[in-house]
Amino acid sequence: MTNFENLGLSQDLLKAIQQMGFESPSEVQQQAIPVLLQEETDLVALAQTGTGKTAAFGFPLIQQIDLGKKKTQGLILSPTRELCLQITNEIEKYSQFIGGMKTVAIYGGASISDQERQINRGAHIIVATPGRMKDMISRRMIDITEIDVCVLDEADEMLNMGFYEDIQDILKNTPKDRKTWLFSATMPKEVAQIAKDFMKTPQEITVGRKNVSTKNVSHEYFLVGGRDRYPALKRLVDVNPDIYAAVFCRTKRDTQKVAEKLIEDGYSAAALHGDLSQQQRDLVMKSFRNKQVQMLVATDVAARGIDVDDITHVINYQLPDEIETYTHRSGRTGRAGKTGKSLVIVTKGELRKIKQIEKIIGQKFVEDEIPTGDEICK
Ligand code: ADP
Ligand code: MG
Repeated sequence: MTNFENLGLSQDLLKAIQQMGFESPSEVQQQAIPVLLQEETDLVALAQTGTGKTAAFGFPLIQQIDLGKKKTQGLILSPTRELCLQITNEIEKYSQFIGGMKTVAIYGGASISDQERQINRGAHIIVATPGRMKDMISRRMIDITEIDVCVLDEADEMLNMGFYEDIQDILKNTPKDRKTWLFSATMPKEVAQIAKDFMKTPQEITVGRKNVSTKNVSHEYFLVGGRDRYPALKRLVDVNPDIYAAVFCRTKRDTQKVAEKLIEDGYSAAALHGDLSQQQRDLVMKSFRNKQVQMLVATDVAARGIDVDDITHVINYQLPDEIETYTHRSGRTGRAGKTGKSLVIVTKGELRKIKQIEKIIGQKFVEDEIPTGDEICK
């Protein structure tokens, strides 16, 4: 079995890995780390949510930073502010035994002059959303003309969100001989295109669908009439009083409505969607992470990539339009070796989608009954 010691990582990183309690490298880490440490190559790595991609690029990136140089050497682009903060936090944990390494997060909805000040104090690694990054480059607040590596994290999601042109503009400001490492859960043709346009004959790594995280997740569906979605949700929560859940809705409006109803009915819930201000979103995420809130009711875009440990249930209040999105949702639970449940509330007309999802995840759903009042009381 491969362990972290024989991947070629530095003592400082190994110490941090031990401190964080990582016992052995995940599959994408086993495959990506030696390649990125030893070869001057571009890389496309495909692996589902929750498979440890951050460390797969984070460790090799940190290891190649020259602390003697003040210049920014690594740039990580990521789709949302929440993810930028999460990645920055992870990178800081990984580099906790490396004195003097600086990582700065750059994202919209916060003071640009504060971020400029942080950059001016020195940033070996910048973790940025494409929009704010592009803005700061054009205002000459950031210089990335000497970076060695650009990481495109959650590339599929960045493209979904329409960041292609921003990414293009940003990369134009980087050296031609930079390395580009692309990480993505899925490979739609837009991602293939970006690999073609911005990368030099990248090596490819694909980690199978059956990864550690998905095997820990069981999938169940509950058949209801169209009007019974909300009562069904309440019942599911009632039988699981200790639930710590992400509840997914299709639209911002439904997300807000479901969260409001839950709160009205005395449950602990909060909404997360794009109509909230950044400040509100931060607050919601903070109270969910701290477990002051038991249920995060969210849209797919707002919740994408967010890594909260210990989520016991993912509840699909409505199935997503794109069935591929289901794997992103269910990947929110069963993380880091724990088990979790992904529950789907469906109407008869949607059963066909369950069959399609089974093919994608390579796992069967269990059909379950919405618990009755008696079961809840006992
Ligand atoms: P992804 O980007 O693929 O969705 P993350 O990088 O966010 O996945 O990692 C998911 C979770 O797994 C995080 O909580 C991370 O700390 C944890 N993790 C990553 N690698 C390991 C490992 N080798 N052993 C144990 N936990 C890990
Ligand atoms: Mg990730």
